[in-house]
Parts: sequence; structure tokens; C-alpha cells
Amino acid sequence: MNDFVFKENELYCEEVPVRHIASGVGTPFYLYSLATLKRHFNVFNESSKILDSIVCYSVKANSNIAILNFLFKMGWGADIVSGGELFRAIKAGVDTQKVVYSGVGKTESEIEFALKSDILMFNVESLPEVFLIDKVAGNLGKKARISFRINPNVDPKTHPYISTGLKQNKFGISIKHAFFAYEKSKELKNVDVAGLDCHIGSQLTEISPFNDAVTIIRDLLVKLTASGFDIKYLDLGGGLGITYENEIPPHPSTYMNSIKSILENYKGKVIFEPGRVIVGNSGIFVTKVVYNKDTGNKNFVIVDGGMNDLIRPALYEAYHEIIPVTKKSGPRIRADVVGPICESADFLGKDRLLSQVQEGDLLAVYGAGAYGFSMSSNYNSRPRVAEVLVDKDKYCVIRQRETYDDLIAKEFIPG
Ligand SMILES: *Cc1c(COP(=O)(O)O)cnc(C)c1O
Repeated sequence: MNDFVFKENELYCEEVPVRHIASGVGTPFYLYSLATLKRHFNVFNESSKILDSIVCYSVKANSNIAILNFLFKMGWGADIVSGGELFRAIKAGVDTQKVVYSGVGKTESEIEFALKSDILMFNVESLPEVFLIDKVAGNLGKKARISFRINPNVDPKTHPYISTGLKQNKFGISIKHAFFAYEKSKELKNVDVAGLDCHIGSQLTEISPFNDAVTIIRDLLVKLTASGFDIKYLDLGGGLGITYENEIPPHPSTYMNSIKSILENYKGKVIFEPGRVIVGNSGIFVTKVVYNKDTGNKNFVIVDGGMNDLIRPALYEAYHEIIPVTKKSGPRIRADVVGPICESADFLGKDRLLSQVQEGDLLAVYGAGAYGFSMSSNYNSRPRVAEVLVDKDKYCVIRQRETYDDLIAKEFIPG
């Protein structure tokens, strides 16, 4: 993360002191480095070139249109999971022929929107879904290109809430029923069965679950090909993990090489849907200390950012490194870093050894670029925070902080 570095005792994002941005936009806020984003893009993009591939960035990881626009301009497409994400992607300039649409609950109006937008492919997660897609496509006089998302029953060895490829999960079609789904879809006139898809989970830090899943998918591919299906797209999802604490995830090139060797002589295109690995460490969350509180039992550093802004610690007990923006010498204290929300799950870090921070000090919460702002809410009637993008010595607010008026803008008191 060499774009978030200390010079003397001050944290900089590229060439801009974080403290300078905080005084300009207030706290809390998300701060992204364009240089880091570019580097992550380049590493993944270069690695993916050993295969004939399309990279469809997973919009839900960080959906800001400035981030999307950068990745689309560089030639990537989008992996979307809702009509709202399709809308964003289009506004950010996506080539809709590079959009794949995943998710178990696509509604009729979302399917219609996607068909009218001429997306590349629907990743279908159930038979009822493919029947609905066939019907909607028929009504529009279109043919929907689809792949089935297969649940290979592989343990991704990650947090249970972000495991998606185990048989007890709601995602995909079980490997047992996969062949039947393909056979069944032959009867449908308005769908073109062109792909095979899987995505087994997020924040994977080992290569073996990927290998297991790809092997299962390849075996199914061989069987489908032998039965006359023309599979032109193999979508292997996202899920590559990042370092939050001391994880050592596989490098994208290790991951790609491994996939290439398993796929052997497959001639079609491979689709990747990376999210976290691109944006996760491109961003930090900056928050200010409001109070130091010693309950006699424990120290609490109470900050102005909470679980509504960054829910990963509360939701997944996720670890994010927390460092004061201005380094201090002297004694350290052990404390929980907590937000102002009325929930005991509202913490950013537990039992952290921190320098003796004072009211008004800024803290940087690392690894906040993925599933940070995109998962934030207005809970406790807190306006959502600003997002800022740094490019060398300049910063730009890419999403304004919401106001109190924004909070009630869509509400009415009945006459
Ligand atoms: C969330 C998601 C991704 C991205 O996962 P990361 O772990 O962020 O890479 C890719 N594909 C699908 C279908 C997803 O739901």
C-alpha cells in the first residue's frame, strides 16, 4: 500500500496529506488512491492476458461512478447484481456487451432493463429464473444469452457470510442438477445457452478452493460439450482475497496460471469478476476521535464513523488495521475503537494497541475500498459520508457528504 504512506509523522495519500483533505471535506470520509487502483488494475489485467478473457469488475465492491468510469475506460466490463448497478454502470460508460448479470432474485423489470440494454449475459441461478428470462425475452422479441451459475459445493474457507459455493448456500444450481438445467433450457426458444459460471465466495486466501471449483466446472464443460452444447464463455467469478492483517492471498498471476493449466484445451472465452482485489486496498476510511472513555473496565476510543459507514467489522468480525493519521510517540493504550451508533456491534476495531490519541485526532482505517461505502447506510439517521479520490497532488470529491435534508428528501407526512 505504498500510496498511503507516512512522511515524517503525517499520513499521505500519494502527495496529499490526509489531514489536509480532512480539513477540506470534514470527517468521516472514504479516501481512494488512483495510483493504487491503477496498479491493482494493471496487475490483474496483465495476469489475465494468458487467457482469452474478459474482465467484468464486480460493481458491488465499490460502485462509485468515478471508480467505475476509470475501470471501464481501461477496457473492463461489469459484473452486476441489480438493475441499480446496471444503471450506474451505464452512467459510468460501460460497454454493455461486457456486462454479466448475477444474483438469485432478478425481477421481471430488472430482466427487461438488462435485455433492452443488450448485456452480454445473464448468469442464471435457478430454473424459475430461466423460465422468466425466456418469457421476458419473448415479449421483447429478443434472445437472451445465458449461462447457468453452478454451485460446485466447494468450501472457500472464508467467513460463512461470504461463502457462496457450498450446497447449503442459496446461490447457483447444484452440481447434481446442473446437467438437467442445461437439458431443460434446450426447450426454451428465447434463450441462447452460451456459458457456464461459478463464484464460490469472497476473500479467498488459498488457491485450492479455486482449483477444486474450476476442476468441477471443467468436468461439467467436457460433459456438456460431448452432449452438443456450445459453451463459449466460462465465467469463473471473483473472490480473490487481499491482505487486511497478515493473510497471504495468491497473486493474480498464480491464480490465472493455475486456472489455465486446469482448463487445458478449452477454446472459448474466460470471464473474471474481481471486486475486492481491485479496490480493497485502494481505499481507507478516515474518522475523527470524539471522546476517550474509560469505563473502569475497558478503554473506548469513540470516533465519528460507525457501523453504518463501515459495516464489515460488525457483520463479519472483519479486521481492519487502524492507525492514527499523525504518528505519536509515548505510551500506548489498549482500547476498542467504536462508533456513535446505538448497537454493541458498532465497532471498527477491538482490543487495539493505539498511541494515546486525543479528541480531534484522525484515525485511518485501512483496507476500506471494497464493501465500505457500498455497504453503508443511513442507520441512526446519519448522512452517508463523502468519498474522495486522490490523483498525485490533487484530490477530488467523487461523492458529496449527504445532508440532513437528504435524509428526509423522499419522506412524506400524510395529509
Ligand atoms: C461479489 C461477487 C463478486 C466479487 O467478489 P470479490 O470477492 O469482491 O472479488 C464476483 N461475482 C459475483 C457473482 C459476486 O456476487
